[in-house]
Amino acid sequence: MSRVYNFSAGPSMLPEAVLKRAADEMLDYQGSGQSVMEMSHRSKVYDSIIKEAEALLREVMNIPDNYKVLFLQGGASSQFAMIPLNLMTKNGKADYVVTGQWAKKAYKEASRYGECKVIASSEDKTFSYIPKLDKSTFTKDADYFHICMNNTIYGTVYHELPDTGDVPLVADISSCILSEPIDVSKFGVLYAGAQKNMAPAGVTIVIIREDLIGDAQEITPTMFNYKTHADNDSMFNTPPCYTIYMAKLVLEWVKNEIGGLEKMKELNEKKAKLLYDFLDSSKLFKGTVVKEDRSLMNVPFVTGDAELDAKFVKESVEAGFVNLKGHRSVGGMRASIYNAMPYEGVEALVEFMKKFEAENA
Ligand SMILES: *Cc1c(COP(=O)(O)O)cnc(C)c1O
Repeated sequence: MSRVYNFSAGPSMLPEAVLKRAADEMLDYQGSGQSVMEMSHRSKVYDSIIKEAEALLREVMNIPDNYKVLFLQGGASSQFAMIPLNLMTKNGKADYVVTGQWAKKAYKEASRYGECKVIASSEDKTFSYIPKLDKSTFTKDADYFHICMNNTIYGTVYHELPDTGDVPLVADISSCILSEPIDVSKFGVLYAGAQKNMAPAGVTIVIIREDLIGDAQEITPTMFNYKTHADNDSMFNTPPCYTIYMAKLVLEWVKNEIGGLEKMKELNEKKAKLLYDFLDSSKLFKGTVVKEDRSLMNVPFVTGDAELDAKFVKESVEAGFVNLKGHRSVGGMRASIYNAMPYEGVEALVEFMKKFEAENA
């Protein structure tokens, strides 16, 4: 068996220990005589899996008691509608910061359900930075303020949160969940599709302050109402059972193997530093993002020559590094180095880049 170093932006690498554990338990989950894929979601054995997944998430992320954790489907993209349908109900207004395509999609979708304002955008420079925000431009009576915390395509991250006062801050954390500690109490809602840093595709995590549940717009479909899922412990209908089980294994890995999110952050910083330091010293490659807003998770870079970029991507695949091709809107390359990417993977990539640079100088 030979496994490649997979730099995909999502779905992405899972920790090898988690995959092995899942393989071991595939046919007979802890003496139940069944695979987790086969069991009733109403069974006792499955109930303990989903409860444990929630308890682990609460522990690892230090989620306060006045927040609900929901396991939903429909991806982060469904949250682009669920957020306004459930929250844009007092004054019918919301503020958005547009820092990339996901943030823009969230803004566009929400605009169908109320009055949305773009407070700032970094589209003028291909979303290569996080715009400075001026609090005096925020809508005083907005129902919420939305940001995309880590911009997967462009490789930027907020190092400082906007001060929204009493207006609930809502954040898409799809590509940075579990990568470092987050002070959940600063947010009204956090949401994430799992397939970047937490599990295979199929489950969407919503962490929502309890007082924001129960006041959805009249037109809200039952399945899009947070209250439906909060009242039924994410069991109103069949949850994505196996994916939640995989999330549980990943959370156990973060807690027991890594030692929690502070440790996870240290490892991620060490990995990212290796790559960024090389980019800063290279004469051929350069990062596309302003230094102060660089993401720990997604690292886009270019040579400045589209043909050379294509050559690099082609040769990288042959050398066992896959999914390094950048998003079509940025071009060049992007290395997504989520939690499961080992330090050795980034080390090997940097060595390969050095060799490519020497050969193509
Ligand atoms: C991948 C991603 C999405 C889209 O997630 P889906 O689960 O495919 O809907 C949204 N936001 C961010 C930040 C992402 O990285």
